[in-house]
Amino acid sequence: MSLNNHCGTCGHFGTELPHQQLIQIRVNPEESADVVAGCHSPEVANLHLQVSPQGSCDAWTPAA
Ligand code: SF4
Repeated sequence: MSLNNHCGTCGHFGTELPHQQLIQIRVNPEESADVVAGCHSPEVANLHLQVSPQGSCDAWTPAA
C-alpha cells in the first residue's frame, strides 16, 4: 500500500514530535503505524485532531 497522500507524509502531521522521530515517520510511515500525533492543519486546528501515519484527508500537503 502506498502511503503517499497519507498523514505520515503530510506536512501537517506530528510537528510536536521529536524531529528525528518525525523524519523517520516521513521516510517510512508503514513502520510507525502505531504512532498517534496531532494534525496541525489550520482547517482543523480548533479540533485538536489526533491521527496516525496511515490516516488521510483531502487537506494533505507534502512534508518539506
Ligand atoms: S488529517 Fe489530513 S491534513 Fe491532517 S495530517 Fe492527515 S493528511 Fe494531513
